[in-house]
Amino acid sequence: MSNLTTEINKRRTFAIISHPDAGKTTITEKVLLFGQALQKAGTVKGRGSNQHAKSDWMEMEKERGISVTTSVMQFPYNERLVNLLDTPGHEDFSEDTYRTLTAVDSCLMVIDAAKGVEDRTRKLMEVTRLRTTPIVTFMNKCDRDIRDPMELLDEVETELNIACAPVTWPIGCGKEFKGVYHIHREETILYSTGQGHTIQEVRVIKGLDNPELDTAIGSELAEQLREELELVIGASHEFDLDLFLAGELSPVYFGTALGNFGVDHVLDGLTEWAPAPLPRETEDRQVAATEDNFSGFVFKIQANMDPKHRDRIAFMRIVSGKYSQGMKMNHVRIGKQVSISDAVTFMAGDRERAQDAYAGDIIGLHNHGTIQIGDTFTQGEKMKFGGIPNFAPELFRRIRLKDPLKQKQLLKGLVQLSEEGAVQVFRPLINNDLIVGAVGVLQFDVVVARLKAEYNVDAIYEGVSVNTARWVSSDDTKKLEEFKRKCESNLALDGGDNLTYIAPSRVNLNLSMERYPDIKFNHTREN
Ligand code: GDP
Repeated sequence: MSNLTTEINKRRTFAIISHPDAGKTTITEKVLLFGQALQKAGTVKGRGSNQHAKSDWMEMEKERGISVTTSVMQFPYNERLVNLLDTPGHEDFSEDTYRTLTAVDSCLMVIDAAKGVEDRTRKLMEVTRLRTTPIVTFMNKCDRDIRDPMELLDEVETELNIACAPVTWPIGCGKEFKGVYHIHREETILYSTGQGHTIQEVRVIKGLDNPELDTAIGSELAEQLREELELVIGASHEFDLDLFLAGELSPVYFGTALGNFGVDHVLDGLTEWAPAPLPRETEDRQVAATEDNFSGFVFKIQANMDPKHRDRIAFMRIVSGKYSQGMKMNHVRIGKQVSISDAVTFMAGDRERAQDAYAGDIIGLHNHGTIQIGDTFTQGEKMKFGGIPNFAPELFRRIRLKDPLKQKQLLKGLVQLSEEGAVQVFRPLINNDLIVGAVGVLQFDVVVARLKAEYNVDAIYEGVSVNTARWVSSDDTKKLEEFKRKCESNLALDGGDNLTYIAPSRVNLNLSMERYPDIKFNHTREN
C-alpha cells in the first residue's frame, strides 16, 4: 500500500450530535483526555449556570469560545488519527451544524439516558440521513436514575428509525451504577466513582459466569444481569458492519461522561468500525479519498477567530490526496491558482501550521474575502463538490448606523460576517438600505454585538417589509433581464453579489413565481 493510502486509511472524521445538555461538551473533554491531548480534562468550556440564555451576549461569547478553540480537534487513538469536529449547540446555528455534518464520515449520537430521545437529536438525525452517515450511540448519565435501557433502545429504534445493537449493557444505574458488561468482549468492566478527570485503572472480570462477578457486584445483581442479558441478546440486533456503514444500524454504548466511564469503549468502536474518509460527489463524478490529486471543499468560515489578528479562517475538508505546505491549488469558482503556504491544522485544538494533511483532515485557510462556503479547491481539475447549501433566511431587519460616517465599515463587517453563513446581507438594487436576513432571532443580537466588538460600529435595527427571500436565476438571459427590469424594486444582491428576490409577503412571492415561470426561485443556494 502506498504511503498516501496508508495515511488516508488511518483517518476517522466524526462529529458529536446531541440535544443541548445531553453531555456533548463533557464527552469532548474526555475524548481529548483519551487522545492525550489534554493532561487534565475540564478546560473546554467555562461553565455557567445559564449556558443557553438567549439574549445574553456574554454567554453567547462563551459558547462561541468553545467553537473557536475546539472547532476541529485532531488526535491519535488506537493506531488511528481521529478528527473530531465541533458543532454549535444552539439551535439558531443549525445551518452551520448542517454544513459541518457534510464534512464528516460518521457521527457519535449522545443521548441523556434519563430523558431519552429529544427534539434536537431528532432533527440532527434527519440531517445525517441525507448522506446516510453511520451513527454510534452513547447513552450518557448512567450515574443518574436512567430509564429502562431496553425501553431506551426501543425509543431510538422507533423514533429515529435506526436499529440498535447494544455493545455494552449497564449494570444498575444512579448510585447503584456498577459498570457495564461488554457483550462483544464478554467481560464486565467495573465503574468506580470520583475518577472523572483521569484515565481510570478499571477492574475487568472475564466471562459472565465468573464467580468473581458475584463477589464484585453481589450475587443478586449478578444473577439479574445474567437473566437480563439473555433477554437483551435474544431480543436486540446483533452488530452488523454493513448495516452500520449504511446508516441503518447503530452500535449502542452505556456510561457516564462525567465519570469518564464508557467513553473509551465508544472510541474503540468508532476507530474500529467507522469508515475511513469516504468519497464525495461532484457534479460530474465521484472523487475517492485515495486519488493522488488533492481536492477539498470549504464547509465553514469563521471571522476573527483571533481578535488580535482579525483573521478569517475558511475550514476545508480535504476530500482526496494530500496537502503539503506551499502547494498550489486551483480555486475553481474564481478560476485562479493560489499558493497556500500558511494553512493551519488543529492538532488538539491548538492552531498549528500544517506541514502535511491528508484526505479526511480539516485544514484552515486564511481567507481574505475570496473564499466562500462551498468553494472547491483542486490541483487543476474543474469540478465542484455539491450539497453544501445556504438556506434562505426567514427573518429580516433593516440595519442602520448610529453614526452615518461609518457606512463603509458597516458594510465590510456585514459582508465578512455573512461569509460565515449564519446571516445574509442584502442590498436592494433601488436604494442604499442594508437588510440583514437570519434563520434564527438570536443571530440579530450576535451581529450587532460582533459589529461593535470586532468592527467598532454601533448599529441598530428597524423593521422592514420583507417576509422571505429566494435566490433567482434563469437559463434564459433575456427573460432574466426583463424580470430584473420589471421587478427591480424587489431585487437585491447578497453578500456574494448573487441576485435575490426579496418578497414583502408569501402571496407576492407566489404571484411572481407564477408570472415568471422561466425564472428559478431557489430556497437554497448551493455555492
Ligand atoms: P452539552 O450541552 O451537550 O455540551 O452538555 P454538557 O457536557 O455541558 O453537560 C450538561 C450538564 O450535564 C453539565 O452540568 C454536565 O456536568 C452534566 N453531565 C454531563 N455528563 C454527565 C454524566 O455522565 N452524569 C451526570 N450526572 N451529569 C453529566
